[in-house]
Amino acid sequence: MSDILQPQPYVSPWMDDADVTDLRTLARTFFEREVTPNLERFAEQHQVDKETWLAAGAAGLLCISIPEEYGGGGGSFAHEAAVLWEQGRAGDDAFGYSVHSSIVAHYLLAYGSEEQKQRWLPRMATGELVGAVAMTEPGTGSDLQNIRTTATREGDHYVVNGSKTFITNSSHAGLVVIVARTGGEGAQGISLIVAEVEGLEGFERGRVLSKIGQHGQDTRELAFTDMRVPTENLLGTQEGQGFYQLMMQLPQERLVIAVGAVASAELAYELALDYTKERTAFGKPIGAFQNTRFTLAEVGTDVLAARTFLDHCVGLHLDSRLDAATASRVKYWTTDVQCDVVDRCLQLFGGYGYMMEYPIARLYAGARVQKIYGGTNEIMKELISRTL
Ligand SMILES: Cc1cc2nc3c(=O)[nH]c(=O)nc-3n(C[C@H](O)[C@H](O)[C@H](O)COP(=O)(O)OP(=O)(O)OC[C@H]3O[C@@H](n4cnc5c(N)ncnc54)[C@H](O)[C@@H]3O)c2cc1C
Repeated sequence: MSDILQPQPYVSPWMDDADVTDLRTLARTFFEREVTPNLERFAEQHQVDKETWLAAGAAGLLCISIPEEYGGGGGSFAHEAAVLWEQGRAGDDAFGYSVHSSIVAHYLLAYGSEEQKQRWLPRMATGELVGAVAMTEPGTGSDLQNIRTTATREGDHYVVNGSKTFITNSSHAGLVVIVARTGGEGAQGISLIVAEVEGLEGFERGRVLSKIGQHGQDTRELAFTDMRVPTENLLGTQEGQGFYQLMMQLPQERLVIAVGAVASAELAYELALDYTKERTAFGKPIGAFQNTRFTLAEVGTDVLAARTFLDHCVGLHLDSRLDAATASRVKYWTTDVQCDVVDRCLQLFGGYGYMMEYPIARLYAGARVQKIYGGTNEIMKELISRTL
């Protein structure tokens, strides 16, 4: 019988599996070796190395939940979440794994023809081909139905014109899923077109955007000027399905953000626990002050509550039962918790918490955008409220 006076370590149900545990060990080793020691350099150069992608591919971490016949790991969303969890626990805010592996590869898997999947997925799994998704435009973010980028059919090509902004993985991307207008106004006029952009005439990577945090990520603008893409690169069997295709993938995208949010919050909590044992003030560890102990008690509770809600949603998704409103709830709530927890933990570091050489400072700067991308938290509440 367990001792009720001792706290019992919480184990996420989806992690309670030998295969997932081995994968977490593999991912942890990868982040420790390939990413953590380089985070400062990645931040300075505003991108990870191309070798980082190839090393992740060689380790078998990319496209982990894509079937083996397409070069993937053949895992489930639990495997995808295991890698994302370890990335969050490593405090990595540079490597654009989730956009590539959890999002772009899944667009191709869900909507690509057999030929498209064979053409692109194996190279994405090795890291040779890096994926990006280009939805947001300078004039349109939340109101995605209003995008202006056009893809006009001319013979067996689309001629693409327009510009996108805030696009993750822009420097390394060889494959960009472009949300473009192939028809009239509104959602019915939108299609997803996949461009192999390396050396493609009319494709331009714009300036690297200077952000509050996540400095190691290559977030840029993209411009398309009479860029010709073969019509066979349309995702889906006919034009006008793009908006529906995006909507169907959003629950997984939002869950992916939530996994990172909870992992980061848990890391911040543990960093604060360690620091408050070592740092002294007024002749005792700062962890001995009641305010510190109460803060840690509250923050630890918030993290546990967020983790159990996340686990509930991961379980639903593994059963193909995660609905859009519940995915919106877990995205907005866990990212709010993340920002609050990281802020309160940073406070316990005093002035050191404001110094970028302390991981807690990077966690703080990186957390803020979680409430904005993947659909802002206000849009999440809008979506939830429509189902009430
Ligand atoms: C670091 C970073 C990486 C990103 N990566 C990508 C990427 O890889 N690909 C991509 O396509 N995009 C990406 N984005 C874009 C991101 O998804 C958008 O910024 C986000 O969807 C919000 O759009 P917006 O910035 O145009 O804000 P807006 O839509 O202009 O919103 C401004 C404010 O108005 C509020 N608002 C808007 N509509 C409503 C409403 N109906 N009700 C209540 N409030 C509302 C919003 O919540 C927000 O507070 C990234 C953004 C960042 C910052």
